[in-house]
Amino acid sequence: MDYRIGQGYDVHALREGLPMWLCGVRIESPVGFVAHSDGDVAIHALCDALLGALALGDIGHHFPDSSEEFRGIDSKVLLARVMAMVRERGYELGNADITIALQAPKIGARVPEMRASLAAVLGVGVDSISVKATTTERLGFVGRGEGCEVWAVALLRRG
Ligand code: MG
Repeated sequence: MDYRIGQGYDVHALREGLPMWLCGVRIESPVGFVAHSDGDVAIHALCDALLGALALGDIGHHFPDSSEEFRGIDSKVLLARVMAMVRERGYELGNADITIALQAPKIGARVPEMRASLAAVLGVGVDSISVKATTTERLGFVGRGEGCEVWAVALLRRG
């Protein structure tokens, strides 16, 4: 098959005093993500999209949160490992599209940095990476500021 598509989804809870990383970019915020890793929920969703495209399971299978090896790990390292798996199987990333639902802080101005960060880790052009940010109009757990929700899709083509 020449093309494969995958989707990924992740949620992390927010808590005061923790760091907030999104797409490998540090966001100034009074709240950050509860996680075993650095909590980069956007990278986690993207990893699951890439793994899903090749039916390779999910991020929790490859990098279990029960493992000390992955405690506090920079999620960019996980993304690089996932992309290496993709290339080992003869595929290249066509494009990826990520939607981040977060009520606060506002992150729209950081989107160019996020795209550049992901493109650098993946070894692709920045025009292959889309990042979009939205609120949920104060509805639901995202709207109440309890967490962040991310969806990602990725298209792979045989390299
Ligand atoms: Mg996660």
